[in-house]
Amino acid sequence: MALVDYKKDMMRCVRCSTCKFIPIPSLLKSWRFAQGCPAIAKHNFHAYSASGKLIMALSLLEGRIEYSPKVMEILYNCTLCGMCDLSCKVGTDQELWEVLHEFRIDAWQRGEKTRLSPHVSIVESIKSYDNVWQQPRRKRTDWAKGLKVKDLNQEKAEVLYFVGCTYSLDPEMRRVARNTAILFNKAGVDFGTLGANEKCCASPAFMVGDEELFLKAETQQRSFHGHHLP
Ligand code: SF4
Ligand code: SF4
Repeated sequence: MALVDYKKDMMRCVRCSTCKFIPIPSLLKSWRFAQGCPAIAKHNFHAYSASGKLIMALSLLEGRIEYSPKVMEILYNCTLCGMCDLSCKVGTDQELWEVLHEFRIDAWQRGEKTRLSPHVSIVESIKSYDNVWQQPRRKRTDWAKGLKVKDLNQEKAEVLYFVGCTYSLDPEMRRVARNTAILFNKAGVDFGTLGANEKCCASPAFMVGDEELFLKAETQQRSFHGHHLP
């Protein structure tokens, strides 16, 4: 799909602002609890809502505006939580989340000027180190030192524990991985990890809009899992 394929979704937005609030606010006791969109909670300006981004995307497609630092700031001041999608679907069948994500893919594909530097750092780290933390690959298994964890490169197990970049490499979060392995062992789970061959799932690349890197990482992981799991 391309951004232009979602033009109908953009044109069907009636600017009702329902996407700013949690679904069916009439069921709530008070409007005080109705706030739903984190971007609107922070900025309280229509452009930051899903509707605002649909209008921006349509304006870009029709040549009324161009990509600019402000457009990028609004586009990425969005958690992609999808609450807006649920709320809009109470009354329509618009695919808001898909449009918001495709908007990022479109921005990323336009090149350097539409890429924000923190996002470029994350993507470059995935490409260079197979993790988002700019850490050498050899550190990926440090969290498991002293624990009984099968290496699925050497032997088979019933369960693959995919640890992930943050739980493998962040000093604070490593204890989550360690405690998970301890619990698995206590529960008698036959598990293992991909060891030094575990790579970033590339979901951060997916979220910033680098579709090419995400699809490449996904294909590599599928092929690796296919070879190493029973
Ligand atoms: S809820 Fe849907 S139709 Fe209403 S403003 Fe938001 S995106 Fe547009
Ligand atoms: S996905 Fe973005 S626009 Fe939609 S509710 Fe979440 S923060 Fe708001």
